[in-house]
Amino acid sequence: MIVNLPTPEDFYTSGKELLNFAWDSTATLLIEVDQAEEYVDESDLAEVSEQYWAASKRTLTTALTVIQQAVELVIKGRIAEVSPYLLISDGPSRWPSPYEGKPVDFERFRTIDAQDLLRVHDTFAPAHFDPEFVNNFRRLREIRNVVMHSAGKNVTVQVAEVVDSALFMHKTLFPHERWFPVRREFLRTAPSSALGAGEYATNNACWEASIVKKLLQPAQVRAYLGVEKKQRAYYCPACLDDANSEVGLNHKLAVLRPDSRDGCDLYCPVCDDIFHAERPARGADNCEATLYSSSAGRCLVCGRWHDVESDAEG
Ligand SMILES: [Zn+2]
Ligand SMILES: [Zn+2]
Repeated sequence: MIVNLPTPEDFYTSGKELLNFAWDSTATLLIEVDQAEEYVDESDLAEVSEQYWAASKRTLTTALTVIQQAVELVIKGRIAEVSPYLLISDGPSRWPSPYEGKPVDFERFRTIDAQDLLRVHDTFAPAHFDPEFVNNFRRLREIRNVVMHSAGKNVTVQVAEVVDSALFMHKTLFPHERWFPVRREFLRTAPSSALGAGEYATNNACWEASIVKKLLQPAQVRAYLGVEKKQRAYYCPACLDDANSEVGLNHKLAVLRPDSRDGCDLYCPVCDDIFHAERPARGADNCEATLYSSSAGRCLVCGRWHDVESDAEG
């Protein structure tokens, strides 16, 4: 018999960890550039940012190759849903011997090559992968091969391409999840959380989401964040409440759903949840205060704690 059979969940967890690893290195770059916009002279910004991205070439190509490895792990998980034994390559004569007096560890089997993963999946799984996913996966493999063979000298990837790639793969492989809640959980449990960084998970996840919203095209923002790029955004009451108040939350990401003038329900792409807010009769403290959360006790336009007159009182 065989022991230590991997489960689909094992592959999905490892795949997401790699995806997060690629995301983390890319997001670090984006955050640095975003910070630079505050202290670099506007006239120098274009040149500085061009130099910065040229110097980040290695990080970006590496991130893409890590995304590709993450996707391979998830496809292996999908194959393991049918049977983990399908992952074994070679014929019986080349398998480890079952006559050594103990069960054979799965790890001792050679497993199928990356280039065969799609074929094995599409042969046994109830449904094929869709062509857009297959094209994107092939392109990632091509980039990875060029990076490995030319040491990456001839590859240039844009940061938006890396972000798009990570988000596209996550959305396709885990259609019932949104990336940013997953990312926030990774930030909460990262090794640095032992040093207290977990407290900033919401601040940072919201920061990353708002950079991504600026960086990507409207259709990508709609697909990956579930919000309209141009729609007016408010503070999410849960994120406001959860963010570390020392650094504060400066990113408005929640949008009215449905988008109507007197709507009161907000969708937040970092929480992937809907929150109910109120419409005060009148604003206060030089704030229009068109939306207020009594559960968080905060104004969702300016983020402050100021008093507003509710309809009931007014
Ligand atoms: Zn939120
Ligand atoms: Zn306000």
